[in-house]
Amino acid sequence: MKRAVFPGSFDPLTLGHVDIIQRALPLFDEIIIAIGVNADKKYMFPLEQRTHFIEETFKKQEKIKVKTYTGLTAAFCKEMNAHFILRGLRNTNDFNYEQSIAQTNQAITGVESVFLFCSPQFSHISSTIVRDVKRNDGDISSLVPKVVNAY
Ligand code: ADP
Repeated sequence: MKRAVFPGSFDPLTLGHVDIIQRALPLFDEIIIAIGVNADKKYMFPLEQRTHFIEETFKKQEKIKVKTYTGLTAAFCKEMNAHFILRGLRNTNDFNYEQSIAQTNQAITGVESVFLFCSPQFSHISSTIVRDVKRNDGDISSLVPKVVNAY
């Protein structure tokens, strides 16, 4: 079975994430959307809420599972028996950041990273931008799925 882990903070889920996940569906038998929990990090949306956003958005999609994890993403992949990590690339900053992580994951556990370039209409979207707009009472409806906008 071709199983991939799509790791992230998803604080919150954005249309950029949704685009990558939907376009990766034909490539894998199962995609585990894995919400990384880091005790030192401050999140805007509580974990339960971030999980709900993802479950609600993909509720009709049987290939998608949602899980939370702590520690190394590569170790979580082993635990889940997933041989692939799925990541999205928006620009060269993402590329530079992802390259050494992917090479390290490959070297220490053999897990392969698979990258999809984001669709151009979503390349400006990040969870950070969404949080900034929301914090300043701006309209996030063009950046996030309906369930997040309604929250
Ligand atoms: P992290 O904290 O690991 O960066 P994120 O939740 O921000 O987690 O992102 C998870 C994944 O989604 C990363 O691979 C990131 O590059 C990708 N991603 C985020 N925003 C977009 C976007 N607008 N288009 C494509 N991929 C994206």
